[in-house]
Amino acid sequence: TLIKLADVAMYKAKRLGGNHYQLYKEEMNTLTPERLALENALHHALERNELELYYQPQIETKTGRIVGMEALIRWNHPEQGVISPGVFIPLAEETGLIIPIGEWVLETACRQNKSWQEAGAPKVRVAVNLSAAQFYQEEIVDKVKSVLETSGLAAECLELEITESIAMHSVDRVIETFRELHKVGIQVSMDDFGTGYSSLSYLKHFPIKRLKIDQSFIRGIPSRADDAAIASSIIVMAHSLGLQVLGEGVETEEQRQFLAERGCDEMQGYLFSKPVPAKQAEELLKKQTVV
Ligand code: C2E
Ligand code: CA
Ligand code: CA
Ligand code: CA
Repeated sequence: TLIKLADVAMYKAKRLGGNHYQLYKEEMNTLTPERLALENALHHALERNELELYYQPQIETKTGRIVGMEALIRWNHPEQGVISPGVFIPLAEETGLIIPIGEWVLETACRQNKSWQEAGAPKVRVAVNLSAAQFYQEEIVDKVKSVLETSGLAAECLELEITESIAMHSVDRVIETFRELHKVGIQVSMDDFGTGYSSLSYLKHFPIKRLKIDQSFIRGIPSRADDAAIASSIIVMAHSLGLQVLGEGVETEEQRQFLAERGCDEMQGYLFSKPVPAKQAEELLKKQTVV
C-alpha cells in the first residue's frame, strides 16, 4: 500500500476568534495502520540510507563569495521519489525519530565539510538545523563536541540554526546552552527570524552570531512596503546589537540589491543557488562561483 505522505503534514487553519487564525498540524496520535506504516518507513529510511543532505550556499554580500553551506535533508523514497523535509520532519518530531535523524544530520554535515576541506576547497562553515527535541536534550553540547572530535572539523566551521520559536520556549535554558556552545567556539544563528513570538529584550542576552530574516519578508520586497520595512528594521536592530544578518529566500536581483544597500551581511536563495547534492556543493566551493 502506498502511503500518501503529503497527508501527514497537513496544516489546518484554526479560528481563534475574530479574524485571528492559527495554523496547526493535524494531530495524528491515533495508531492507524497508515501512521504505523509511515513511521516504519521513516525508521527504515535511516537504516537503508535513504536520507541525503543537500547544501545551499550562503553568500557574503560584500564579496559575493560562499561563506557557508546550509545542510537541508531529503528523503529519497524508493517509490515516491524525493520527499521534502516539510513533509517528514514533523512526523519525525512527533515520533521521536528526530533524535537519531538529527544526529545523523549533524555527523554527516560535519564529516562532509571536513572532506571538502581535505579535497582542497576553501574553508566555510556548515549550518545544521536543530529541532526543539534535539536542542533541549541534556547532553546536546557534549554530543556536538563529540561529533566535532570524531569528524575533525574545527568548531568555527560549524553553525547551528535554531528557530526563534524554539529559543523563546525556555529562555533561561536556551541562554545557558548558547553560552556553552559559544565557549566551544560554535556559532549559533536564529532561524526564521521575525515569524516567532520573540521578545526583543531577550535578544541581547543571547550569545548568537546572526539572525536569519525569514523568507516570508524577503518575498514581499520591494513591492510590499510592510515587508520591506520589517526587513530593514531587522538589519538595523541586529547591527545595533552587534549581530550579523542573513537574508533568506533571495530570488531576485531587486531583492539582493535592496538588502545589499541596507548592509545585510549575507544572503541565501535561489538567485545564487538552489540546495544541491554534496558533490555539487564541493564543486561550487572549489570554483567559488555560484550557478
Ligand atoms: P529552513 O531552515 O528555513 O530552510 C530554508 C528552506 O527554504 C529550504 O527548504 C530551502 O530549500 C528553501 N529555500 C531556499 N532558498 C529559497 C528561495 O530562494 N525561494 C524559496 N521559495 N525557497 C527557498 P527545505 O529544504 O524544503 O526545508 C524546509 C524546512 O525543513 C527547513 O526550513 C527546516 O526548517 C527543515 N529542515 C530541513 N533540513 C532539516 C534538518 O536536517 N533538520 C531539521 N530539524 N529540520 C530540517
Ligand atoms: Ca534553516
Ligand atoms: Ca529559515
Ligand atoms: Ca523555515
